[in-house]
Amino acid sequence: MPNDYFNHPCRFPKNVDGPFYTTGHLDRNADTPDAPSEWRGDCLWCGAPEAEAAELFAPFDDTYTDTYFVRQPSTPEETSRAIAAARVCCVDAVRYGGQDREIIARFGNDPTVCDFIVDDSGNLTCTVGSDGRLLPFAQAIADQKLAELQRWFRKRNKKWWQFWR
Ligand code: SF4
Repeated sequence: MPNDYFNHPCRFPKNVDGPFYTTGHLDRNADTPDAPSEWRGDCLWCGAPEAEAAELFAPFDDTYTDTYFVRQPSTPEETSRAIAAARVCCVDAVRYGGQDREIIARFGNDPTVCDFIVDDSGNLTCTVGSDGRLLPFAQAIADQKLAELQRWFRKRNKKWWQFWR
């Protein structure tokens, strides 16, 4: 049976099969430039995602270099922890590629972390192109969300008499 989750082209290969995953990129080692490129995770070793869902990620220890899922959430509590882990990742490298509408709604229907979102017609729509970048419509939504966030931060830092500006 085909996967019901998106197989993101930047999916870090060590992730276990399933809809939650982390991204990575192919990197050349500066010490051995002739060697083939190797996968490196985009989310590394600060431990923030692991602190939210330790049981789902590779063990966080001295040998640690990349963040990736070793297990998919199997209970509602674990799903909540996986969502929390995605929320704390500051580069949106912990993602959800599944089609569960409830989970997508809990992410705020946000294309920066979801490979499918629900469009205005109520249909599930893939947000990512074959190159791993957001499709133009999804990028427009992401830009709009960022602009809203920036406006909110600006207002938050104003004195009360500056709020109408
Ligand atoms: S959560 Fe952010 S700071 Fe921490 S390892 Fe991931 S990308 Fe880096």
